[in-house]
Amino acid sequence: MSNIKKTSYDVIIVGGGAMGCSIAYNLINFDNNLDVAIIEKDPTYSKASTLLSEGNIRVQFNVKENIEISLFGIQFLSKFSEKMAVLNDKPDVNFRQQGNLFVVDKQNYEEAKRGFALQKNLGCQVEWLNPDQIHHYYPYYNLSNCLAATYGSHDGTITPSAVLAGYKNKAISLGVNLVTDTVSRIMTENDHVNGVELDKGHYISSKIVVNAAGAWAPIIASTADINLPIVPVKRQVTVIDSGLRPTNLLPVIFFSSGLYCFHEGQGVFTCARSRPNDLITYDDFNWDSKVFYDSLWSELLEVIPEFDRLKVKSGWAGLYAENTFDGNAILGEWPNLKGFFLANGFSGHGLQQCHAVGRYIAELILHKSPAIDLSIFSPKRIIKNKPVYEGRSKII
Ligand SMILES: Cc1cc2nc3c(=O)[nH]c(=O)nc-3n(C[C@H](O)[C@H](O)[C@H](O)COP(=O)(O)OP(=O)(O)OC[C@H]3O[C@@H](n4cnc5c(N)ncnc54)[C@H](O)[C@@H]3O)c2cc1C
Repeated sequence: MSNIKKTSYDVIIVGGGAMGCSIAYNLINFDNNLDVAIIEKDPTYSKASTLLSEGNIRVQFNVKENIEISLFGIQFLSKFSEKMAVLNDKPDVNFRQQGNLFVVDKQNYEEAKRGFALQKNLGCQVEWLNPDQIHHYYPYYNLSNCLAATYGSHDGTITPSAVLAGYKNKAISLGVNLVTDTVSRIMTENDHVNGVELDKGHYISSKIVVNAAGAWAPIIASTADINLPIVPVKRQVTVIDSGLRPTNLLPVIFFSSGLYCFHEGQGVFTCARSRPNDLITYDDFNWDSKVFYDSLWSELLEVIPEFDRLKVKSGWAGLYAENTFDGNAILGEWPNLKGFFLANGFSGHGLQQCHAVGRYIAELILHKSPAIDLSIFSPKRIIKNKPVYEGRSKII
């Protein structure tokens, strides 16, 4: 059998990405006597969304709880290195608070106003910029169709691999068993979860199983006859050399179409965009420059004309675990299967949410009163058909 230490655990977590490792860390941090196992099928994490993420965090959401999750995340990141230190090894997430700039146009004006007011009320560092002020932050941007922008000065970008390594190594140092194996089935007895079956036919038992399998979450859930509204959507990111040499790191810029552009340093930017016809797949991780030329390039040149000298350098593709029901996270115990907890459906914002969500799921499992009430994202809403929409333009 693989590196499993026991045949029975207090909690089994399926999936050892940022979410699974954060949940494990929070559980063991609350109660050091717990026996916790993470089952991760791929120790190289070659397809895990965590390592294929852009690593951005923003407070610019429209649902109060999403904003609170980010406020907690930004605060937590400032002490991540200390909290995740193992002996003298302190992970450096390289949190670059370059700011996020969301362009406001006719399409998203009302929604942006509402979101901005809510963010301000919750104490976020956000500003409403007029076109002249935008020019100051982003001198290359063509302002012709823009009415305004919202700017989150504490928003920024971290290195995803460092977040994963931080949670993983700390959890292991506190006694979590990270097992390399594939979960093939959730085991149940009547209306309660009972453990998991592994690929090689072994069973490990537990009264609590957490589904943290990212884009693969619906496959895991289906083995317990649960139909999660999540699909694996392929997202491509293209790395360009713009030929420009901005003196400072520019904010990340987001357009209402879904196009976004990260300044990585010197002339290098990464660009991507969600498209309605993006492939649903578990197999295709190929990056194809044609997608950039066919569906991003002309829009990019319109909004940032000085990109006319850009050279496409490379790119990558990963999976969004897209929640087709309402686009938001699905958090908590599945109503009809006791002990089966979900931390799923994060689309393009799961990395920034892993700090608050990891703690929340641990609090639910341990019957603690949650520091941030995230019950709005309970899976009960799916059964009751009560979607929680973020808004039309900000689920990225
Ligand atoms: C291109 C791209 C850009 C993104 N940009 C951002 C961003 O800027 N900001 C942000 O916050 N988020 C971003 N995201 C989203 C973010 O990466 C994810 O929401 C987050 O990493 C999800 O973490 P996870 O642990 O749930 O999933 P994953 O990291 O995918 O981990 C799930 C793990 O489960 C394992 N697994 C699956 N099935 C099994 C099984 N049967 N048995 C055992 N193990 C199994 C997998 O191997 C995997 O390692 C981006 C995603 C992509 C693809």
